[in-house]
Parts: sequence; structure tokens; C-alpha cells
Amino acid sequence: MRDLRTGIGHDTHRLVKGRLLRLGGITIPFDRGLDGHSDADVLIHAIIDALLGAAGLGDIGQHFPDTDTRNKDRDSVEFLIETVRILKANGFHILNVDTIVFAEKPKLGDHRYKIRDRLADLLQLDPDRINIKAKTGEQLGLVGREEGIVAEAIVLIEKKFKRKGTIS
Ligand code: MG
Repeated sequence: MRDLRTGIGHDTHRLVKGRLLRLGGITIPFDRGLDGHSDADVLIHAIIDALLGAAGLGDIGQHFPDTDTRNKDRDSVEFLIETVRILKANGFHILNVDTIVFAEKPKLGDHRYKIRDRLADLLQLDPDRINIKAKTGEQLGLVGREEGIVAEAIVLIEKKFKRKGTIS
């Protein structure tokens, strides 16, 4: 029987002047960026929490603490690569990733496909196993007032058991 497991992730970062806007491992042209200890890539952070949650391996703060100066301004792509390595080392295989980015501005438009392809590379998945949806806040709440960007992710992973005598 297949051992399938699902996980969710959610993250919020504040929009500020003077920072690059990093989403899903790419830089999006915009007059503001997300504030945080690392590069504040809210989408990658949500995906990491979903992956760690599905694997029963805690959360992003436990693996990559924002009290660690090595993580200051760090590219979140590095956190995702390390998370994929941790999952593989624990016998997990990623099946699919679905996400929502909540942003009043900028419009993600065609950036969604660039983000999907970048994430496909990082997660070592076919692009059709990754989905990026974009929503505005309808001018309501922190998203609608352009105070921040929120991301949610859900993933499905499978535990692959090693059979006796096989090397993987
Ligand atoms: Mg975060």
C-alpha cells in the first residue's frame, strides 16, 4: 500500500521600500520588496513548511532559525534545496505542490510560469506537478492595503520504504 502524506504551509511578510521582491526563487520587478531576516521569499517559505509538515519534520523555524546570523539575507532557494535533501534522506518523494500567492500588487501574470519552472528545477519535479495561483485581497485586509504578501502551499509526498537488500 502506498504511504501518501499531505502537508500545508502558510507565510506572511511585510512589503517595504528598498528590498528586492523575491517570489518562488525569482526576482519580480516592483517598487517594494518583502522584509525579513532572509530574503523573505514568502512563497518558498510556505512550500518548505508544507514539505516539512507532510514529512512530520517540524517547520522552517526549527531547521533555519532567524536567530542564526548565517541565515541573514540568505537566498531562500538554499533553504528549499536543503529541505528537499532532508526529505529525500528521510525516504520521501514529492508528488505535487499547489500554492496561492495573495498580493494586491504586483500582478503575477506571466511571472507565474517562470516561478513554476524555477520551482520545478529546485524540487526536481515536472512543471505540471507544480501550480501557482494568484489572488488579490479585493482591497481588504493586509493584502488589500498592500502592507504585505501572503502565501499558502499544500503538498503531497510519498514515503518510499527501502526493501531489504536493495540499495537506493
Ligand atoms: Mg517567512
